[in-house]
Amino acid sequence: MKHDVALLKGDGIGPEIADATMDCIDATGVSIDWHVEDAGIEVYERDGDPLPERVVDTIRKAKVAIKAPITTPVGTGFRSVNVRLRKQLDLYACLRPCKSYEGVNSRYRDIDLVIVRENTEDLYAGIEFEEGQEETLRLMEFIDGMKGIHMPRDSGISIKPISIARSERIVRFAFDYALENGRNKVTAVHKANIMKYSDGLFLKVARAVAEEYPEIEFEDRIVDNMCMQLVQKPQLYDVLVLPNLYGDILSDLGAGLVGGLGVAPGGNIGEEIAVFEATHGSAPKYAGKNVANPTALILSGVMMLRHIGETEASIELEKAVADVIREGKDVTFDLKRDRKDPTAVGTKEMAKAIIRKIGG
Ligand code: NAD
Repeated sequence: MKHDVALLKGDGIGPEIADATMDCIDATGVSIDWHVEDAGIEVYERDGDPLPERVVDTIRKAKVAIKAPITTPVGTGFRSVNVRLRKQLDLYACLRPCKSYEGVNSRYRDIDLVIVRENTEDLYAGIEFEEGQEETLRLMEFIDGMKGIHMPRDSGISIKPISIARSERIVRFAFDYALENGRNKVTAVHKANIMKYSDGLFLKVARAVAEEYPEIEFEDRIVDNMCMQLVQKPQLYDVLVLPNLYGDILSDLGAGLVGGLGVAPGGNIGEEIAVFEATHGSAPKYAGKNVANPTALILSGVMMLRHIGETEASIELEKAVADVIREGKDVTFDLKRDRKDPTAVGTKEMAKAIIRKIGG
């Protein structure tokens, strides 16, 4: 069966790691009709928008996409392309596997946890009130009258909405993911002791959903304690499900546990559409130099293959990546023990080494 997959080449190091990823996926033998689109800073300079509507349409039609990093133009009034995509396509779940690969410099070994972050609400809903604005003062007066809480009038305010429906769908996503991927435990992370009506609601919903999945263990942790536990004994955790802000922070903590952004893949997933992308950005200083590490985007391709049902190919590609990293020879500078090691290879050469391993 031929699969339609949109490929957004992005900017900075994006096009180089996108080509490497496409070549590695093609080498698995899975038949893919790639719908390649440019997006990013050059498209912005040409068309006035880094993510023109036709690119979003291509993703809508293909339903699955791999997206290379895109620079957020500073001071142009444009919101991050990533935030726009999540909103426009309702990609409500951000999936971030954090897995140790032998050969990656890291303090820990044997980590294999998955972070499921809610992508659409919480403090990221964009309900912001700027300090000194008339509407902000009116809101403060309203809260004063209603709750008797007097805020300093030079405050700025961000609102944190958390709903039953969206908490339910993200927690259900985490449990379904656990079931489908042979995982044993889901941990809900929150600060319900302080934010009773937002995080408290998230926890209440999580507990109710957990009852529908008796075969999966469920527990919860307060977010500060969770951070300490992840540093002290990350091996105890399996699938974590979190509201947006904690999910954002703990995703980077998770990437740090397994050796950093260069090896951290991700997926943003909705009911119909899924967009897979590396956690890192466009690393402009390495653009066009054939030095960037393609691993995170290739591992995002591994997730994509699993998502479209090509499980064997995804296992094969992941093993090829793991073998190349373990051997430590044909890897980019950041995967060498000494980043100045002259034996480091380029992006293309690392991809070629991975391709040689496939099926081998
Ligand atoms: P970044 O991830 O691009 O870079 C952080 C550090 O890691 C830099 O030193 C960079 O050179 C290095 N690095 C990142 N990826 C690497 C790779 N594959 N190989 C080798 N080294 C790598 O983060 P930043 O500098 O904060 O952001 C740069 C731009 O990327 C910004 O415009 C930001 O908005 C954008 N960004 C995009 C995405 C995305 O598209 N998903 C995500 C994060 C940041």
